[in-house]
Amino acid sequence: MFTPDRPYIFHIELTDKCNAGCPMCPRTDAMNFCKPDRSKVFNVELGLADFQTHFTDAFCARTDEIVFGGAYGDPLAASQLLEIVEHLTDRGVRLAVSTNGGLRPPAWWSRLGRAMKRTGSRLELHLDGLADTNHLYRVNTRWERIMENARAYIATGARAEWHFIIFRHNQHQIEDAYRLSREMGFEEFTLIDTIRFSGGPQYPYVMPGGEQRVLELPDVKAAQFRAGEDGGVAVLERPQAAAEAPRTGVNGIDCKSAAFNRPYISAHGQVSACCWVTGSDEEAAFFAANGLGPDRYNIRNRPLEDILLDEPFATLYARAWTADTLKNCRHKCGKMLRNRRNTL
Ligand code: SF4
Ligand code: SF4
Repeated sequence: MFTPDRPYIFHIELTDKCNAGCPMCPRTDAMNFCKPDRSKVFNVELGLADFQTHFTDAFCARTDEIVFGGAYGDPLAASQLLEIVEHLTDRGVRLAVSTNGGLRPPAWWSRLGRAMKRTGSRLELHLDGLADTNHLYRVNTRWERIMENARAYIATGARAEWHFIIFRHNQHQIEDAYRLSREMGFEEFTLIDTIRFSGGPQYPYVMPGGEQRVLELPDVKAAQFRAGEDGGVAVLERPQAAAEAPRTGVNGIDCKSAAFNRPYISAHGQVSACCWVTGSDEEAAFFAANGLGPDRYNIRNRPLEDILLDEPFATLYARAWTADTLKNCRHKCGKMLRNRRNTL
């Protein structure tokens, strides 16, 4: 799955802490006032020392990019994010930081921008709407604070992208958000169709103040939108069908991690094949069935590259795809059941 002769791209969850309570996030107990689900959140994080140990000068030279996002937390909630970003960009590594933007003051964001700019790194700011709607999904965030932070960051000349999940309650704001993104200096505006409505077109939740609400599927799809000639957006009647990529992987499963040499590391330090399988019951059962104990895959116990070149990544995943025993892999990389994106 992973090979040392290609540059690595890492997807790293720096922490499982977060200031927000997005109802559809796996860390959130949506019906319990959008509080963290204590059975999944342990308040752990990776620190500068972890990066100094594993991302040495030599290893950074073989690392193309690191994406800081993850399953259970926001990277800005990691106490040493800035020091980690400076360590990596000092060594030429390009980064992507994916965040709700609500934490930290503007001066901190200016320092982040200066460090990110050194390697053409990008910020993915998740803003699902405008002042009156963003907090309906990004629960517990404050719009004015996010705008101040974004402006301070963009003023440094570092790259920023606006990522917008479409819901029924914000679908009428796509054009205004797109125009605002351009005015503010965002370089990209990406619309996202979430797949988290798989249980039905409505998703109930309870706001921290007790108000009961429902997220609803929008009537539009990301692929219906195009950048318009007047600086706004043009809307097609129907989404344009995306070209089907030819299946080239093992048994029709095109492993995204294998294709990009892109391992995942969790905030606990565990190395996994990707963000879709990490921490899942299926991953645990797969490891157990092959006699692999979880401690072997923690960067606090072994050098990162030893882990990557070991089983189950060396041969066991490919064998499982041939036998079609991993449901997550079939769904995510065989049937491509993922969020759909469209960058305007
Ligand atoms: S900002 Fe990200 S990590 Fe935090 S609750 Fe929302 S989706 Fe989850
Ligand atoms: S879901 Fe399976 S096949 Fe897809 S990237 Fe993850 S490990 Fe690879």
